[in-house]
Amino acid sequence: MLSDAELRAVLSDRLAAVEANIQQACQRAGRPREVVQLVAVTKTASCRVTGLLPELGVNDLAENRPQALWSKAAKLPSGIRWHMIGHLQRNKLDKTLPLVCRVHAVDSVRLLEAIIHEVRKRGFAPMPVCLEVNVSREPSKYGFAPAEVAQLPRELLTAPEVRIEGLMTMAAYAEDPEDCRPTFVELRQLRDQLRAAWGESLPLPQLSMGMSNDYPIAIEEGATMIRLGSTLFSGLPGPEEDPA
Ligand SMILES: *Cc1c(COP(=O)(O)O)cnc(C)c1O
Repeated sequence: MLSDAELRAVLSDRLAAVEANIQQACQRAGRPREVVQLVAVTKTASCRVTGLLPELGVNDLAENRPQALWSKAAKLPSGIRWHMIGHLQRNKLDKTLPLVCRVHAVDSVRLLEAIIHEVRKRGFAPMPVCLEVNVSREPSKYGFAPAEVAQLPRELLTAPEVRIEGLMTMAAYAEDPEDCRPTFVELRQLRDQLRAAWGESLPLPQLSMGMSNDYPIAIEEGATMIRLGSTLFSGLPGPEEDPA
């Protein structure tokens, strides 16, 4: 079994490689490095591995399943900013919203309404959210169809209980990451159209797009949050190492 020191060394090397790729992609696109935030997706990492990230400078962590987020948040020190990036059932909002800094994947009107309701009921600060768009149009994926987003009722978008920060998508897996580029371009163009239609009150600054396989391309096309799992954690101890 790898010691903590060995794990730290592996993670540090992988983070350095990711950082170099981020910087190069930003340079190619003429974007400043600071506009791209790394969010580490810890779903395949044990608590021991996840717990090493803050000292390596990574404080933005994400899970795609609510129960896994609850469990990691309970075991790890506070100070971590948790991002909920997967499908969120409405009956899990009460336990999830208090733990997270952002919900990336609002994929239905019913979920958006439920978040507004929960925030109002509990007197929380406005919750930052992104709207998930199924740009690649895979039936197996959650998210609004691109045309649906434009139809969202104004009173939901401007409700004081949420801050609609932008759009999120997952590209279909492709052997050649270049094949993901059209998905990212389409999300950015959709954001630009919505910004023009909705006006200055909804500037939609965030584009949550790009995973291990395709993040340099996503950055070239305007990603502001990249969600990386396997490139950081593959081969390292997973949740099976955690005590139940
Ligand atoms: C798992 C996951 C990721 C990270 O995927 P990798 O390919 O492992 O980097 C990103 N976003 C979502 C929604 C995920 O579920």
